[in-house]
Amino acid sequence: MSDDTLFDKILRKEIPAEVVYEDESVLAFYDINPQAPVHVLVVPKARFCNVSELKDGDAETVGRFMMGVSHVAEKLGLTERGYRVVFNTGPDALQTVEYLHAHILGGRSMEWPPG
Ligand code: AMP
Repeated sequence: MSDDTLFDKILRKEIPAEVVYEDESVLAFYDINPQAPVHVLVVPKARFCNVSELKDGDAETVGRFMMGVSHVAEKLGLTERGYRVVFNTGPDALQTVEYLHAHILGGRSMEWPPG
């Protein structure tokens, strides 16, 4: 896996992003092409390609990552009405950046099933 994906560069501050939250485990920033009134990406500082790459030994790291997702949603004021968390994983899901990331989508009613 390349360590030079777009999100590696954002984490290294080589490419600017509109950061909404950062802690020791995650960085969260607005998606450049929003699909909802609120669309934020959360990336773990530990590097993984996607959900399929996770191993049992990663459970604590992934737990901190998910806590970061929860903190971001709360900070954005999405907790009461709800929101969607999406992990595009692999080609069928149209994952375009090979660095694990959660999409937080909120601020409108969603539809199901997704396309
Ligand atoms: P995915 O298709 O799940 O891999 O998601 C990648 C996301 O990165 C897409 O929603 C893009 O709109 C978003 N994106 C691409 N370039 C940037 C950027 N420079 N800053 C913020 N988000 C970006």
